[in-house]
Amino acid sequence: MEEVYRHACEVIPGGVSSPVRAFGSVGGTPVFLSAARGPHVVDINGREYVDLVCSWGPALLGHAHPEVVAAVQEAATRGLSFGAPTTAEVELADLIRGRIPFAEKVRFVSTGTEATMTAIRVARGATGRDVIVKFAGCYHGHSDALLAAAGSGVATAGLPGSAGVTQAAARDTIVVEYNDAEALKAVFAERGSEIACVITEAAPANMGVVPPDPGFNATIRRLTLEHGALMILDEVLTGFRVGPAGWWGNEASLGEAPVTPDLVTYGKVVGGGLPLAALAGPSELMDLLAPVGPVYQAGTLSGNPLATAAGIATLRLAHNAVYAHVDRASRQVQDALAAALDEVGLPHRIQTAGNLFSCFFGEEAATHGVRNYDQAKAADGFRYAPFFHAMLDAGVALPPSVFEAWFLSAAHDDAALNRIAEALPAAARAAASARP
Ligand SMILES: *Cc1c(COP(=O)(O)O)cnc(C)c1O
Repeated sequence: MEEVYRHACEVIPGGVSSPVRAFGSVGGTPVFLSAARGPHVVDINGREYVDLVCSWGPALLGHAHPEVVAAVQEAATRGLSFGAPTTAEVELADLIRGRIPFAEKVRFVSTGTEATMTAIRVARGATGRDVIVKFAGCYHGHSDALLAAAGSGVATAGLPGSAGVTQAAARDTIVVEYNDAEALKAVFAERGSEIACVITEAAPANMGVVPPDPGFNATIRRLTLEHGALMILDEVLTGFRVGPAGWWGNEASLGEAPVTPDLVTYGKVVGGGLPLAALAGPSELMDLLAPVGPVYQAGTLSGNPLATAAGIATLRLAHNAVYAHVDRASRQVQDALAAALDEVGLPHRIQTAGNLFSCFFGEEAATHGVRNYDQAKAADGFRYAPFFHAMLDAGVALPPSVFEAWFLSAAHDDAALNRIAEALPAAARAAASARP
């Protein structure tokens, strides 16, 4: 593995195509994979791991679900890319609309980054305003405007933002502490007439899992409406993963009225493992996009036939039973994790957003919970690296960063869950004996 990694580093920056894969925050050599099936990934030496990354979300049904693979193979026989409209795109848009009634129109892109970037452009086009508001620790992809105080790999690398972002782009982005309704009110009181939109993760899971306080999304909705700004709900991670209608659908079942945003973004699960993402919303806003309206957006591979086939097959297979299974598997892993950490007397807090969860270590997190990025960074993150490597040694692949959620799938069966449970006690001991 070391030799492959060394060669990779010679020809690819950091040896990886996306930073968090480089094991920067957990140390050691990244595991190069050659295959993935069901709940497992297989490395280039043929070693199999139970996978709790699930490609960072897309593998809701498990890796390489036979019906999804068959749909992609069938599509491939008809051509890889046309650069012309297809009925498959219409079918996928209809499937999304069937789950998300306010998503009257859908525009397909290839990545979550493009989806949020385009949603911001629509918001600016719709309002004629420049300023956007985002929350610290929320990750919305790597477009310039959205890299300030971002979660995910930016958090893992401990960066305030990114080099190469112009001051003008940074100046037009206001960053507010997550779950801080008063701070958001103050920003709107001061600059409300300049604000095009507030973008928020429906339930943040890129600074660890930090769910919205009850009513927080509703506060965003109320303030944006009062000030003529748009609300963009980023469900790239949560959409079609935490429930059939994403976090938006789940809030209703949590006893809250679902907060309907102006625009919503999807990625990850909606592409079933292939590069596909989307933004969606009411016709009057979506029709601002070219060719109907003045907001330009385009993509050579947008709505790619293989990606649409994977998305359609995945959504068709993602029945309520799938979500019930993933919820149950997630709770089982959480329970086993809590038991292992309790056994070694390690204070911790497991936070959830539907079937997504992550674990914060330390007395402070255990006592008060983690409600924002500052608190997430203040937790005892140093305990994660030895924990992660103990799990990896035992054949369980966790996300290689404490700031990422753990992902289960419908393919995580009893055998896979048992392997996780068996690996946890040694990992908990490793975490407990870690020193900062
Ligand atoms: C992953 C993610 C993105 C970016 O999607 P990419 O496909 O990696 O560009 C945007 N928003 C959220 C909430 C995400 O989790």
